[in-house]
Amino acid sequence: MARYTGSVCRLCRRERMKLFLKGDRCFKEKCAIERRGYPPGQHGQRRGRRPNQYGIQLREKQKVKRIYGVLEKQFRSYFKAAESKKGITGENLLVMLEKRLDNVVYSLGFASSRAQARQLIRHGHILVDGKKTTIPSFQVKVGHEISVRQASRKNDFIRASVETARGRGIPSWLEMDADTFAGKVVAMPTREEIKLPIEEQLIVELYSR
Ligand code: SF4
Repeated sequence: MARYTGSVCRLCRRERMKLFLKGDRCFKEKCAIERRGYPPGQHGQRRGRRPNQYGIQLREKQKVKRIYGVLEKQFRSYFKAAESKKGITGENLLVMLEKRLDNVVYSLGFASSRAQARQLIRHGHILVDGKKTTIPSFQVKVGHEISVRQASRKNDFIRASVETARGRGIPSWLEMDADTFAGKVVAMPTREEIKLPIEEQLIVELYSR
């Protein structure tokens, strides 16, 4: 499957904001945004022209794709599906992205970033209702139990992530029992619960051009 393999800090610098793609490092002084908060590349420090409306919409779409680790083709199919659902397209889009298994594994604290969550899923460490699920884009439903495979509960990365996540808190649509390495989807996420700084209407406008 195609995936981005370049520097993820570069992506944050391009969007001029922290996208929290690297786990603990994002909260430390080593964060590239803290040290070089200007866009990457030869002309990064130049004073650029003010972006036009298209540029603003494009950056918003890129930002959301990068936060959730989704490539263009898949993002477009999420958008099409969001359009065909009842309700507000932009909100539908964000809710679908939130319901991805890799996002849930990250939100429950089993991984320190969505990228690490994807790796755990692909390597078979994660169970949904007791069954191994290796598809990061799997859409969770209310009632699903997401847990770490018994043999993987001793994994140092997972234990450290769960410990760190205890203080971070989890979204109200999820429940988590850190002692049994198991979480549950107790409701569907709503737009109000998605705290990321996203203006989804800009993405809808971009794709409606
Ligand atoms: Fe982004 Fe984290 Fe890198 Fe900082 S450390 S630039 S927040 S990925």
